[in-house]
Amino acid sequence: MLDLFQKTISKQTEFKGIGLHNGLESVIKIIPADENFGIVFKRTDLELNNIVKANFENVSSAKLCTTIQNSFNISISTVEHLLAALYITGIDNALIEINASEVPIMDGSSKEFVETILKIGVKKQNSKRKYLKILKKFEFKENEKFISIEPNENSLNVDFQLVYSNNVIGKQKNKINFSDKDLSNVYTSRTFCLYEDIEQIRKIGLAKGGSLDNAIVIKDNEILNSTGLRNNKEFVNHKILDLAGDFLLSGSRILGSVTCIQGGHSLSNLFLRTLLKDKSNYSIIEIEESKTIESYFKTPTNKLAVNA
Ligand SMILES: [Zn+2]
Repeated sequence: MLDLFQKTISKQTEFKGIGLHNGLESVIKIIPADENFGIVFKRTDLELNNIVKANFENVSSAKLCTTIQNSFNISISTVEHLLAALYITGIDNALIEINASEVPIMDGSSKEFVETILKIGVKKQNSKRKYLKILKKFEFKENEKFISIEPNENSLNVDFQLVYSNNVIGKQKNKINFSDKDLSNVYTSRTFCLYEDIEQIRKIGLAKGGSLDNAIVIKDNEILNSTGLRNNKEFVNHKILDLAGDFLLSGSRILGSVTCIQGGHSLSNLFLRTLLKDKSNYSIIEIEESKTIESYFKTPTNKLAVNA
């Protein structure tokens, strides 16, 4: 089921934590915003040129996380899990204030963001939501990585496949329909890495804040986190979460069926840039009222079915 109208958060909320890559503590505030405002970040540690719009054209790096940057080289990194939380909770408009250059990693998933937003509530606004509807099949390949999208009038569906030579991860595949009511297996799934890669990642100045509190770490045939996995497809579910966050950078919720093999932040961004360059691939639409959840419960037959 789709939403007819735009939404914002009911009231301001904040989160505190450390950056996965820079290891520094930061505070973010999610602040209600007017209709048609979109998702906009503001670096409150800087006085000038501190606005960065959440848009795929502002992605300056997609190495291990998604970084967005404005024309004054002011950036914010690891935006994807917060954006995925906004996607899942239905938020279209929000000002995100942050006092540092990286969004806190929290527990490595979108759990805390989603649960707090759901507890606070979202507010329906007066303007209709605009969806990006895919009009024809479009594919993109980069070496062994593949992504395609096909028209789907009703939702964003993501069919994702991971292939790792590590036995614990192995080949993992899952299909998620983002119009489903319960997406908890997606938003609670944590980021992950192989123990053997940590040294190399730290050498290039990343993952300074990484620990077993905010990532699943796999060493040979063992998961080092004492509590194990949160669901049996946590690795691929996290990749689907990343994709939803990265896709919100298109500026709209996308209606289409995605198939992705071995994807990641970089592939998602290259894909959006190529897909959206050609206007014959998509149209920006408002949906018909008959497809919304409000109208479903308004029709007498459905009401009877629900009460039965
Ligand atoms: Zn991630």
